[in-house]
Amino acid sequence: MNLDYPITYIKGISVQRATLLYTELGIKNCNDLLNFFPFRYIDKTQFYQIKELQPNSSEVQIVGKITHIKSVAQKRGSRLVATFQDASGSMELVWFKGQKWIKDALKINTPYVVYGKLNHYNGSFSIPHPEMELVSEYKKKLQSKMQPVYPSTEKLSNSGVSNKLMRGYIQNLLQQVYDSIEESLSQEIIDDFKLIRKREALLNVHFPKSQEALAKAQFRLKFEELFFIQLQLVRKKLINKTKIKGFVFDNVGEHFNHFYKNKLPFELTNAQKRVLKEIRKDVGSGAQMNRLLQGDVGSGKTIVALLSMLLAIDNGFQATIMAPTEILANQHYVAVSELLKGMNISVDILTGSVKTKKRREIHTNLEDGSLHILVGTHALLEDKVQFKNLGIAIIDEQHRFGVKQRAKLWSKNTLPPHILVMTATPIPRTLAMSVYGDLDISVIDELPPGRKEVKTVHRFDSNRLSVFKFLKDEIAKGRQVYIVYPLIQESEAMDYKDLMDGYESISREFPSPKYQISIVHGKMKPADKDFEMQRFVKGETQIMVATTVIEVGVNVPNASVMIIESAERFGLSQLHQLRGRVGRGSDQSYCILLTSFKLSDDAKTRLKTMVDTADGFKIAEVDLKLRGPGNIMGTQQSGVLNLKIADIVKDSKVLVSARNTAISLLQEDPNLSKKENLPIRNTFSKMSKSSKIWGNIS
Ligand code: ADP
Ligand code: MG
Repeated sequence: MNLDYPITYIKGISVQRATLLYTELGIKNCNDLLNFFPFRYIDKTQFYQIKELQPNSSEVQIVGKITHIKSVAQKRGSRLVATFQDASGSMELVWFKGQKWIKDALKINTPYVVYGKLNHYNGSFSIPHPEMELVSEYKKKLQSKMQPVYPSTEKLSNSGVSNKLMRGYIQNLLQQVYDSIEESLSQEIIDDFKLIRKREALLNVHFPKSQEALAKAQFRLKFEELFFIQLQLVRKKLINKTKIKGFVFDNVGEHFNHFYKNKLPFELTNAQKRVLKEIRKDVGSGAQMNRLLQGDVGSGKTIVALLSMLLAIDNGFQATIMAPTEILANQHYVAVSELLKGMNISVDILTGSVKTKKRREIHTNLEDGSLHILVGTHALLEDKVQFKNLGIAIIDEQHRFGVKQRAKLWSKNTLPPHILVMTATPIPRTLAMSVYGDLDISVIDELPPGRKEVKTVHRFDSNRLSVFKFLKDEIAKGRQVYIVYPLIQESEAMDYKDLMDGYESISREFPSPKYQISIVHGKMKPADKDFEMQRFVKGETQIMVATTVIEVGVNVPNASVMIIESAERFGLSQLHQLRGRVGRGSDQSYCILLTSFKLSDDAKTRLKTMVDTADGFKIAEVDLKLRGPGNIMGTQQSGVLNLKIADIVKDSKVLVSARNTAISLLQEDPNLSKKENLPIRNTFSKMSKSSKIWGNIS
């Protein structure tokens, strides 16, 4: 039998059942089934006597006989109850479903091995829907000591595809194909990591002989899974570097130097200098740059972006920055125009609200090359927007943009522009390796000097009055404050009400004309939102009441307090982003997390993490642990995370070795053409052919 054969080749799997297995679990061919791994194991080495059972025993295995069976009527329907005995005592076995069929199949006074979850009620024990096997059958079978439990679905179990059946299918299959399971790694890698052979690993992951054998099998399979993903990513990166030509910015010219010498408002931090060097190296290399720039809020990514754009302009190219919201785009536009004042560089902005006439003007200036820098939102991606020669595209706050949109920027040129993706959401290293493994990564891991850490505290709602008092003191010192309410899609109406109630009570507490309040939320028209934002930015209002629309990018250095209402409802990365709105000026800033008394354990962890640390990477690690990789912003679309056995969080060490192994392998043998790497090459090309390869990431 060949592993490519459909599973209908396995005894007992009808076409109908195969269809079900495909729709429910995605299992199509024998190889899929072989790589469908148990999610836990039952240790069935233990047998219990009935008198040994304890109310807190969970799953138990007992040998005994059924002495009689009866149907018991109950409120809805009936249940089938069998009295089950061994030498030490008796208990009940109970069924609610399939009663007739089970009643006919059960044999009285014949020894069974019974296994299941123990219930304890009124001093007596029962097992509902036990697994049953005649002792005579049980003895015949090759019993592995630890039994696999496979993931299942309601539909499957309702259609009679039990765990026992799945086990049988896989056992059958393994027996038939065992000798033909080919090794997929080279001897060198196997030796280096002391891995067991592939076939041995597959056998032991399904039917482990012992805990130790299971651990070895899992390690081997995790390594392999991560290795082939990394091989793919690293290879793509190498191909990008050698095959995808990029514009060469070899001229560090007049604008860059002039700006650097005369206009730079501060000395760059070492981290900024290092990143800039990395970018300069990329854009001078002749290959297209695909770089992810990670830097916490306030770490100074904008200036790095600006200097990179000046490199492009010095070499006769245009540049663009794309931001996820109009407010942010505006802010970039203002910042960039301000910094470039007095230099002979034209900057413009294109967003959804730019009027047709102005829009046309921008199109014309872009096409004839007289416009050097275009800042904007998604509006930049419209087909009508054509650059004369776009040299670099900078994408801010990357997680808001999908994969396709990034690809779209590419198609605007003969050669692809250099791409710099900036994100303030720190991504843990292991996750970045997987999701952005084909990008180069730069990190600004240092804040500009003189920043004071934002003092963060957690307060219960009942302390609201003292919090308000504190706000009044801060406002009296001339500071401004944010008060943020959650906005979660599912309960939008309720959140909106909370926001409005909150606004009203704050208006009462902070009456006009002494206090002026701005309010911004998602239901407002962009123009109104902007108007309110601007009032706050200009200092005309002291309090900004808002939903999370202010999360991204807003820069008001005079704001020194961030109050987060119902903070238990926010995710960690969101809390961190919000806190990043304050602490931008020279004054001591504060973040106050307000919550109710009722807090889940996860919420407590989130709050404690916020109070304990300001390090975005540490926060991201905790977030990853709490929520799992699939929920971290920007990773959902990445197929890289559909792992069968490895876990990016728990197996991060394996991931790092797998990546390093992939890198050194491709350095030595870029085309995998050496004889000893043939097993890798074969597996790799099979994987590439099957649909399991994720879409382009950049
Ligand atoms: P972010 O990385 O969040 O986009 P910004 O680029 O907006 O951060 O920078 C945050 C603030 O820090 C800005 O006011 C900026 O002018 C300032 N800044 C950036 N780099 C430095 C530096 N090296 N020294 C002092 N201030 C800096
Ligand atoms: Mg920014």
